[in-house]
Amino acid sequence: MIAPPFADRPVLVLYTGGTLGMIPSATGLAPAGDIEARLRRTLDSLPPSRRSRLPEFVVQAVAEPIDSSAATPHDWQHLAATIADRLGQHSGIVVLHGTDTLAWSAASLAYQLQGLDRPVVVTGAMHPLEAEGSDALDNIELALRYAARPELQEVSVAFAGRLLRGVRARKIHSENDDAFASPNYPLLGERVGDDIVLYPGRCLETQQRGAPRFELPDYSPLASGGVVRLVLWPGIQAWQVAAWLGDTRVRGALLEVWGGGNIPSDPELVGVLAKASGEGKLVAAISQCPHGSIAPGHYAAGQGLVEAGVLSADDMTPEAALAKLVHLLALPLDEQERRRLFLTPLVGER
Ligand code: ASP
Repeated sequence: MIAPPFADRPVLVLYTGGTLGMIPSATGLAPAGDIEARLRRTLDSLPPSRRSRLPEFVVQAVAEPIDSSAATPHDWQHLAATIADRLGQHSGIVVLHGTDTLAWSAASLAYQLQGLDRPVVVTGAMHPLEAEGSDALDNIELALRYAARPELQEVSVAFAGRLLRGVRARKIHSENDDAFASPNYPLLGERVGDDIVLYPGRCLETQQRGAPRFELPDYSPLASGGVVRLVLWPGIQAWQVAAWLGDTRVRGALLEVWGGGNIPSDPELVGVLAKASGEGKLVAAISQCPHGSIAPGHYAAGQGLVEAGVLSADDMTPEAALAKLVHLLALPLDEQERRRLFLTPLVGER
């Protein structure tokens, strides 16, 4: 690959908060400042052979770093806008993010930054930078090195020696360093010894890239509950679903249904779903199983979803499906176009 004109520009490290930059406080770990000096000090502890492979970088922190459990679609929008604004000056971007909702932000960034022509690599850590044996150093090193790879032209997640597609990633462990997985899509890359390997055939660059076509709509109207997520349980009642979907503030919903795309056999429940679809709400379904896809209608028990006009989210993660509902509902589109785009892979999310 011929080096692109921006290859010699520094990587931008954007710090948004999360455990990686936290320090102990009276109420538990909390976001802390002075991130650039702390990052550089930590990276200085790498052996020279590894330090020499790091790209040049500059650091920018958001005004108020947060624990990512407080993030909303409004934060996703703000992050994408910052990246879009700064991208031209950098060869790539590393986003330092709390792990709890990292997968949601990564998915949302992928929809907002369609047609990326350079890497946006999201990472974080299960332990603070200064904690003994912390995973933070390895994760930052990995993210920086991937952010300097011009062949990587999409939003990805670098964590525990592996590179995952951002819109396919999930946090699957609450304690282990190896906290992220990509249940329905193979790794984009991984660390092998001291090498950082990319598998180009799996990357968007060779799949469905086009010209940059960032979509940065206003998420604020949806940030306060416009899209809901409902996980079915045995015994769920139509009135319970109606209580959520019937609210006029709700414009979209993600249902997590059984196995290959089934729901309880309850005509009233199907009626509630059909009513919501009929009112123009964007209602989609995924499986509660972490692996595999759904095919509503394969079993008679899934026919209700088809009849009610519920969209199949195929093998998408909950994070990717919900962030896509938010994104499409924020765009000025008519209902048919929204439904069509939901079923179309935009950034390798399905
Ligand atoms: N609660 C933290 C956060 O998401 C967890 C982490 O970063 O690992 O910000």
